[in-house]
Amino acid sequence: MNYDVLIEKAIEVRELAYAPYSKFKVGAAVMMEDGSIYTGCNIENASFGATNCAERTAIFKAISEGKTTVKAVAVIGDVNSYTYPCGICRQVIVEFAEGPEIPIIIIKNKNEYIKKTLDEILPGSFSKKDLEL
Ligand SMILES: [Zn+2]
Repeated sequence: MNYDVLIEKAIEVRELAYAPYSKFKVGAAVMMEDGSIYTGCNIENASFGATNCAERTAIFKAISEGKTTVKAVAVIGDVNSYTYPCGICRQVIVEFAEGPEIPIIIIKNKNEYIKKTLDEILPGSFSKKDLEL
């Protein structure tokens, strides 16, 4: 799989981040089951608990438009180091991921990124399988 478009879109959408409090801009792009790409940025709130991360913004956009399965995730935060998805986002990715091996691309810039699998960044995850009786 070529991740260039996913990476470009994550970098682009980072500029739209609404981060007046932390000044920490994050952009994410997710590829869905049909190859469509959805983007998201972090959206902060004066009531800090109402803040939403870039990854969840992208995934929720896709799910709310009828997509079901995440095949790849790309995320960029700090451009001087690698910013991984937070714990809440990792859990949300697990919920919709095609499987534990989907790629999670952690971007510093368009030429520097790390590719991990979902299972590598959230081993032993709790998922809908745990609720099957
Ligand atoms: Zn997050």
